Amino acid sequence: MKNSRLSSIVQQLLAQESPRESIQLAVGELLHNEAQLQTEWAELTKRTPLAKTKLNVRIIPAEQQCMWCFLIYRPQQKETACPQCRSVGAKILSGEEFYLEED
Ligand SMILES: [Zn+2]
Repeated sequence: MKNSRLSSIVQQLLAQESPRESIQLAVGELLHNEAQLQTEWAELTKRTPLAKTKLNVRIIPAEQQCMWCFLIYRPQQKETACPQCRSVGAKILSGEEFYLEED
């Protein structure tokens, strides 16, 4: 599967004047897949001025809130059952971010 968000970030970086040594992406834990990201980055930047730019990834921890008892918890295995009341159906508060971090 192609990551269209990653390719739009690459387009954005290519529009800038000089390629940087490295860039940092903030990626939510629920979307994070380091190996896949690095592979896609290498493919997208191949034969571009970004070919030598290193991709760093900062993971943003996932957080969910139970719709029934309102407990806020961090899903360990991307589960959706509440650890307190066992209800299924949680609202995702964070963990789906995907953006370029500027220094
Ligand atoms: Zn609950």
